[in-house]
Amino acid sequence: MHVPFYRHQLGPECASRIAQVLAGPILTTGNYVQEAEATFATFLGLQHAVALDSCTAALHLALLAAGIGPGDEVITTPLTFVATANAIFMAGGRPVFVDVEPDTGNLDASLVEAAVTSHTKAILPVHLYGAMCDMRMLRDLADRYDLALIEDAAHCLEGSRDGYSPGELGDSACFSFYATKNVTCGEGGMLASNNAELVARVRRLSCHGIDRNAYDRYGKAYQHWDMLELGWKYNLDNLRASLLLPQIPQIKEKRERREVLCKRYEEVLARLSLAAPVVPPNSVSARHLQTVWVDATQRDAVLSALQQRGIGVAVNYRALPELNFFRAQGFREDDTPVAASIGKRTLSLPLYPGLRDEEQNAVIAALREVVKSF
Ligand SMILES: *Cc1c(COP(=O)(O)O)cnc(C)c1O
Repeated sequence: MHVPFYRHQLGPECASRIAQVLAGPILTTGNYVQEAEATFATFLGLQHAVALDSCTAALHLALLAAGIGPGDEVITTPLTFVATANAIFMAGGRPVFVDVEPDTGNLDASLVEAAVTSHTKAILPVHLYGAMCDMRMLRDLADRYDLALIEDAAHCLEGSRDGYSPGELGDSACFSFYATKNVTCGEGGMLASNNAELVARVRRLSCHGIDRNAYDRYGKAYQHWDMLELGWKYNLDNLRASLLLPQIPQIKEKRERREVLCKRYEEVLARLSLAAPVVPPNSVSARHLQTVWVDATQRDAVLSALQQRGIGVAVNYRALPELNFFRAQGFREDDTPVAASIGKRTLSLPLYPGLRDEEQNAVIAALREVVKSF
């Protein structure tokens, strides 16, 4: 049996939504984008959201809006997708990697204070795999040192910790609608926040620093627009926003299905004496990824053995200092040894609401066979 790593579920409802856009006059940013922003903000329990091209764009603009520029340091995790650190470079700043917790893989909030310098301007935690970082501790640190707190919530549309969900304790939270995320439109992202001023600035930066978007300009008497500052071109369009709309009411139910799948994986992994990240106390994990931490010397062999048995796998992620660009920038794996170790041991199994029981059985059977052969 072939079990893909991910399978999207964009069906007839999405097709009819996008057909509505095609039948109308506005392909780019317009009423579907506004509806997606309002619906997501409501879902997240936040006041404002701005839809963007990608989560990378959201992170970039969140950092710019926080005033990050050349010479500024941003504390973040090395165990993440490159986008997190790249957004810091794109804003002109420099990432400072703090090590992760050995049991969750998340940024270790208890190590952050020691990394604060006079150049530190922001903390950028990532809610890895869907489990949230200790946001209460990070909020306290951000307040004490007057730092911006930006959440990379690309894995965590649905999670909470200590009763707080993404964007409630951070200044803003950034989400991804990339092709393999829990909600997707192929490529897309969003920034959400309770800070109206910050969101207005991000919105302006997302369209060249122009003071009005194309939708405002459409259909009204012509008015000159002005450009107030240098911005980027990161706005989301009606075509992709329309694909998001039918997915929003299904978010909770789909998370519940992934929860059931994860519980089953966790039982099996425990029986096979394989390690996996834990969900921290007082938390609801978004359950974005099911990872397994095997022996570093066997990881690549396990990956290819699973693939040979038709099981789709991925690595989320090797620690960034393992990558050439980061090494060339002077980052060293030894400086964040826990992240380096997890990065060499981790692999991800298929996890999505459309994964059928017999498919999960096939994944488990293959895993059992592969592990026993070592
Ligand atoms: C997917 C992802 C991103 C980037 O999202 P894009 O929408 O592709 O820009 C950033 N951070 C993490 C942790 C991710 O998994």
